[in-house]
Amino acid sequence: MTSGHSPVSATPDTPPDPSDQALARCTGVARTFGFGVASVVAVHDLSCAVWPEARIAVTGPSGSGKSTLLHLIAGLEIPTGGTVDWPGLGGLPQGRPGLIGMIFQGPSLIPTLNVTENVALPLQFAGISAAAASERAARALDQLGIAEMAAKLPEELSGGQAQRVAVARALASRPRLILADEPTGQLDHEAADHVISVLLRAADELGAAVVVSTHDPKIAARLPERWTMSDGELTQQNGSAR
Ligand code: ADP
Ligand code: MG
Repeated sequence: MTSGHSPVSATPDTPPDPSDQALARCTGVARTFGFGVASVVAVHDLSCAVWPEARIAVTGPSGSGKSTLLHLIAGLEIPTGGTVDWPGLGGLPQGRPGLIGMIFQGPSLIPTLNVTENVALPLQFAGISAAAASERAARALDQLGIAEMAAKLPEELSGGQAQRVAVARALASRPRLILADEPTGQLDHEAADHVISVLLRAADELGAAVVVSTHDPKIAARLPERWTMSDGELTQQNGSAR
């Protein structure tokens, strides 16, 4: 892994701007899936930046490109056009735990590991000892109100419990950017509100930025900045002037 800037780009590299503090920046980004007549344009000509301590809700109908946008910002999708860069994180976050905590929309727990082991695994990848990782995992589970789930396997959890484990896993690595893709989709209003409160409190404590995609207007209303996706295009409201 390089220590300098490493944009993921569909065009030749441009020199990095050392004063750019954006944790993630998309410039004219497109992501198309498939080829020819069967191709789908998931996001199109998209430019945005996530600043330190941002609180962004991404809304938009199903299929509008929210997950694709979050995956691009996480460096998990390669753009088919334009550039994604992470100047404020010192370049491509892949392989460098503790920078981005991703909460996936779909099931993402490893079925053969129990809840504690699932939450502790990325910490161990980051070089933290097994004992310390388990301790941090236990604390994160407690934060989410699911400490009693610690020894259970993912198949023994409800959808909502699994979603909270995924949130605990993302927070346990103490990331600087939290990307949560419909993290409350399986939860009732009260549980959803609690999970968002935990996410926002953790972000405040970590000094992290948060991007939450959601269908739920009440959840979106808890974050001051609003991005709206529509047919792969992004509109930003209440954005930072930087
Ligand atoms: P949202 O999260 O808003 O529901 P997505 O980003 O998941 O939207 O999807 C945007 C569009 O891209 C949809 O038409 C979807 O079918 C398509 N798409 C997303 N991922 C893939 C993929 N891996 N292969 C093919 N099409 C995809
Ligand atoms: Mg989605």
